[in-house]
Amino acid sequence: MQDATNSPALLGIDLGTTHSVMALWHEGKTRLIPNALGDVLTPSVISLDEDGSILVGKAARARLATHPQRSVAAFKRFMGSDKRFALGDQSFSPEELSALVLGALKADAEAWLGHPVHEAVISVPAYFSDEQRKRTLFAAELAGLSVTRLINEPTAAAMAYGLHEQKFERSLIFDLGGGTFDVTVLEYALPLIEVHASAGDNFLGGEDFTEALFKACLRDWQLLPATLDVQAQANLRDSLEGFKCKLSSEVQTLSWNHAGVTREWQLDEPGALKIWEPLLNRLRTPIEQALRDSRLRPQDLDNLVLVGGATRMPAVQRMVAALFGRLPYRHLDPDTLVALGAAAQAACKARDHAIEELILTDVCPYTLGVSSLRGEDDCVAFSPIIERNTVIPVSRVQRFYSSHAQQALIRVAIYQGERPWVQDNIFIDAFEVPLPQTGEIQALDIRFSYDINGLLEVDVTLQHNGERHSHSIDHTPTGLGEEARKASHQRLNALKIHPRDTLPNRTLIARLERAWAKSLGDDRERIGDWLATFNQVLASQQSTEIAACQQQLNGALDQLQL
Ligand code: ADP
Ligand code: MG
Repeated sequence: MQDATNSPALLGIDLGTTHSVMALWHEGKTRLIPNALGDVLTPSVISLDEDGSILVGKAARARLATHPQRSVAAFKRFMGSDKRFALGDQSFSPEELSALVLGALKADAEAWLGHPVHEAVISVPAYFSDEQRKRTLFAAELAGLSVTRLINEPTAAAMAYGLHEQKFERSLIFDLGGGTFDVTVLEYALPLIEVHASAGDNFLGGEDFTEALFKACLRDWQLLPATLDVQAQANLRDSLEGFKCKLSSEVQTLSWNHAGVTREWQLDEPGALKIWEPLLNRLRTPIEQALRDSRLRPQDLDNLVLVGGATRMPAVQRMVAALFGRLPYRHLDPDTLVALGAAAQAACKARDHAIEELILTDVCPYTLGVSSLRGEDDCVAFSPIIERNTVIPVSRVQRFYSSHAQQALIRVAIYQGERPWVQDNIFIDAFEVPLPQTGEIQALDIRFSYDINGLLEVDVTLQHNGERHSHSIDHTPTGLGEEARKASHQRLNALKIHPRDTLPNRTLIARLERAWAKSLGDDRERIGDWLATFNQVLASQQSTEIAACQQQLNGALDQLQL
């Protein structure tokens, strides 16, 4: 527990697909906050324990391989969709699962600080849509956190980097996490940090690189994924995740035992490069778009900053170096930069005098507009109102007309995207405005106001009588009415969360069980002995012995590299 009586209880949270991290502004600088296990990174994984309690973090991640039907990871990829995840006999939405992660972080922060925390700045991928942002806000609400600001992840990273470097320059932030890819081009003229452009792909991350290996490996072994049960698939994915992180110029061997058969797969970096070529190519598109939108060429950049665990892949670093003709800046930890930036933003919100000077301008990364009829065949076209990479907050107005003099109603349908026809873009919301019946074509002004959290409001003013129809796009998620939201609150309130103080023991058991499941022969016997020893020590209830045994066995498991 820390004495942080003077620090604002305003957390900066990086709610990642793979890992979540939290930080706080304390005594004039950003500080990372450890979780119940003393780790800075909390895996964004949830598992339902056999006793019906919820496990969050490392214990849950260990159980992905041993209890795939009771554990779930990477749910952030589905934020904003209607997908539900089954954990045993219960099912959860992505925002409910995110709320469980946020709740665990909140509890850990409170234990560390020694006082309650109610507010947070939460980071989201720059390319998160309006709906995905709203669902993130709802997840925070479910966790009992009020969000003072949503900050774009690469912008947060840029802020942390700017605080560290204090230079005047143009930089490109390349953020490749587990499930999303974001690129942001910005310029530092401290105290001003000005984002010029953001682009990204919400369906591209380190997970896809593991998935590509999974498919290639099964193909080489001539196994169809459907012939493997959920448990076997989870076990192989888990092994490939570790294998991916070890790949180098030398050939590595993966050994996998299934149904009494041990199979081997050999791969080196050039081999992996062939498998990953389509994914590496996809990384280029957002980079090119962000540069084009900021009217910069690769050689105009002073610096490249790599963020996100997946930028540790040599293949990605080489691709970036080749594209820009220089080595990226890698002196800061790519895992924690986003949380540190969110904490810095939280301090700005709390008006901490040490940081008051820093001014950040961000952009809306995608085009927002309405549907309109165009041409003689009444095609439903997309009419942009706020173009992508406009500096925010922004308010833009555009005039539209009814199609004919007798029209009684006009439907304002709001979309996000870069395609000329609305059906190819993302639908956000729609509402109807009654038109005055004057026997004439009506003119109406549609105003879009986009705020610093990336949330939109729409206003329509009728020219004929000046009547104003304000449609505050509801900040509660679309399709989630009062009932559904109440049900989420009730579902989460009814859950039993595994007690924080015994989590280190529970985590060690989950890790030992995973190691046992993944090994064979002598190794397995040794791990079985460790498990028995630890259970005995636990039964003794001697806290010093338990702590010593924990430390020893966690160290031994780290060495195993399973
Ligand atoms: P997120 O922001 O989505 O939570 P992270 O920044 O934690 O994600 O990055 C997670 C991704 O980074 C995972 O897909 C993981 O496999 C990958 N990763 C982490 N370390 C390495 C490594 N040494 N080599 C290759 N990939 C790695
Ligand atoms: Mg991240």
